[in-house]
Amino acid sequence: MASDRIVYAVDLGGTNLRAGLVDSAGRVLARRKTPPRVDRRPKPFVETLSLLLEELLSEPGLPGGPDAVALAVPGPMDLERGLVCSPVNVPALGEAPLAGMVGEALGLPVTLVNEATAFTLGEAWRGAVEGESFVLGITLGTGVGGGAILDRTPLMGKKGNALEIGHLIVEPGGRPCNCGRRGCLEAYASASAVRRRAMELAKRGELPDLLESVGGEEVQINSRLITEFARKGNRACTGFLEEAGLYLGRAIALVVTLLDVDRVVVGGGLSSAGELILEPARRAFAEHRFTTPTEVTITTGELGGEAGLIGAAALALGVF
Ligand SMILES: [Zn+2]
Repeated sequence: MASDRIVYAVDLGGTNLRAGLVDSAGRVLARRKTPPRVDRRPKPFVETLSLLLEELLSEPGLPGGPDAVALAVPGPMDLERGLVCSPVNVPALGEAPLAGMVGEALGLPVTLVNEATAFTLGEAWRGAVEGESFVLGITLGTGVGGGAILDRTPLMGKKGNALEIGHLIVEPGGRPCNCGRRGCLEAYASASAVRRRAMELAKRGELPDLLESVGGEEVQINSRLITEFARKGNRACTGFLEEAGLYLGRAIALVVTLLDVDRVVVGGGLSSAGELILEPARRAFAEHRFTTPTEVTITTGELGGEAGLIGAAALALGVF
């Protein structure tokens, strides 16, 4: 691997769009984050990527420009044809040939990857599970995503849709999910699911302190605030996070039973709740797993919001 390459990495999440220049040591040399809810239709999205790249390249002190693009996107997708397929949490993208469109606009080769796979690769390259060979990564954000590394090799599946853990059904007939089915992990353990639960209770007048802290506007409640209140001992908020953790642990037990990984790394906005989610997750995991000699550790990621950029770049650089 040449040591002087730079990759233009982009991570499109359900909430934020992050872009950065990543070098072959896994350092983010320059970064941008667009505000939520910008136009996500394919053409404006590609134009935004061109503008962000121009901005990034105008920063002083860069050793050079990128020779490749790494594009982390939410699923589902068709890796063989470079398509996103109306991502559940960014439906405005529709079914677009993003890899081809971005490649043409920027004149660079494009590597497309699922955003949660990118998170997993980032944490395994430079983060919490650095150097580990058998890893399950889970992101708890707008949705719930998953990625895995088996024997140092990313597990992608036929078209890039392996490990869509957010749509494992953990409660048959349970809460409705954005994918149109019921009882998916995403409907219980995503940041949006936890927020929705809190908003429902606040609306019924059951969370007066939380509601007061957002000036009575329940739509202003978010997972960060819920975590804050849980840390201060608010029982309802602790309960939301515990429930998310219990379902998460149940899903981890299913996946670990299939894949025999020994490292589980959890990221995304809701992971900042740390032990408030991980402790119940470990409890549910211990209860539901099929016991084998593999010792499994469940931790949070270390790279924060940049794990996806770093992991997508790793793939484009041939690290994995
Ligand atoms: Zn679903």
